Amino acid sequence: MRKTITTKNHETGESERISFDSVKKCPLCHAAFNGETMSSALAPFETENRRIYGLYVLHYCQVCGIGFYALYEPKSDPYSSSYSRDTIYTLVGAMPRKPESKDFIAEIGILSPSFVRIYEEANRAESYGLTSICGMAYRKALEYLVKDYLLEKHPNEATKITAETLSQSIRRIDSPKIRTLAERAAWLGNDETHYLKRHVDYSYLDIKDFLEAMVAFIQYEKTVDKAAAIPRI
Ligand SMILES: [Zn+2]
Repeated sequence: MRKTITTKNHETGESERISFDSVKKCPLCHAAFNGETMSSALAPFETENRRIYGLYVLHYCQVCGIGFYALYEPKSDPYSSSYSRDTIYTLVGAMPRKPESKDFIAEIGILSPSFVRIYEEANRAESYGLTSICGMAYRKALEYLVKDYLLEKHPNEATKITAETLSQSIRRIDSPKIRTLAERAAWLGNDETHYLKRHVDYSYLDIKDFLEAMVAFIQYEKTVDKAAAIPRI
């Protein structure tokens, strides 16, 4: 949500009108956030070894009733010659944060306890702003989900499934929907690990979406298996 506020430069004492794109979700309760502001200031912060003016905003979440602060940065330094008054400040980060927990159904925890544990660790890294490494962790969670899913279906091939590459395992998946999700998540996962990013319009957030969709389809399969096991009496 775009907001415009009048704020003070803490160093010069001058007032400025500033527009910023507010943080969209409360970092504590994760509810949609309307950008409610208690106070703000323009003050320096350091990014990539450059000292630029950032917008520090104290926000208040009506849902959890707790305040937090967010830092926003302009596209260019407001005191440089390339700065435009129309510059929109965008979010750098918000603090304090609480990890957003994801409760997978019990069946997924039984199928792959390692997937659930690694996914939760990736999620925690993400919520602490460690977005350069959480993608790798989601990629690792994908590998455990795929392998454990296949091991349950093909226990006699456990040695091969465990040793083969992730892409070889993905090709074994019968369900076209789960296979497509796993394949694409693996492609994006490679981008999170390697120097060259091939799918520039996608991020770790897409891997996360695909993992959650895979879990949903696996859950549907399990429900169908349960229904099919009911004998006609
Ligand atoms: Zn909240």
